[in-house]
Amino acid sequence: MNRFKTPLGEIEITMLGHASLMIRWDGKNIFVDPYSEVADYSLQPKADLVLLTHHHYDHLDKEALMHILRNDTVIVSNKGCKQQLPQSNVLVQGESFNYMGIDIEAVYAYNIVNKNEDGNPFHPRGEGNGYILDFGGYRVYIAGDTEDIPEMGSLTGIDLAFMPKNLPYTMSDQMFAKAVKMVMPKQLFAYHYFEIDIPKLKSMLPQGVELMNK
Ligand code: ZN
Ligand code: ZN
Repeated sequence: MNRFKTPLGEIEITMLGHASLMIRWDGKNIFVDPYSEVADYSLQPKADLVLLTHHHYDHLDKEALMHILRNDTVIVSNKGCKQQLPQSNVLVQGESFNYMGIDIEAVYAYNIVNKNEDGNPFHPRGEGNGYILDFGGYRVYIAGDTEDIPEMGSLTGIDLAFMPKNLPYTMSDQMFAKAVKMVMPKQLFAYHYFEIDIPKLKSMLPQGVELMNK
């Protein structure tokens, strides 16, 4: 578990594996992309808020959701999750949702280089979301399944970032380093990886960015 101070109070973030996070804030449990392959969600508390980046099985997992959803759990997702979760609040990139004072903005997450055999990107532009959670000015960027896309260059004031690193679906080490240079978070976790060489990755990152993976 990792603790961070924000103007809205402390947040505690647990990385549950793959792209799954649990954020505790002000007594609330916020889950991102809960995935039952990496954690036992029957042992987790119920969710007050769930953020889903896109519909792929490792991000929208009914098995995990079954354990943590209550009738009044707020769900925020991209439009591709709406069919399976009609109660979801859908955001397209650029739109925001306010959850009890946390401003949640959807941003782009997509592939440019990495494609299916049919020539379509694994994650086409405009489908999946990344999110920026703004806790009174402390900004947490959850990148979703994405490569180093030009839109990252216009993200500002990111305090903490979660960025994916695996091939073929997201980023190589080189792409990851380029993405980090655009986002320039103060602190950073690589996530959604199969394998990671932390010393090597650290050596590729710009000054002023702290890679937090252990
Ligand atoms: Zn995906
Ligand atoms: Zn994924």
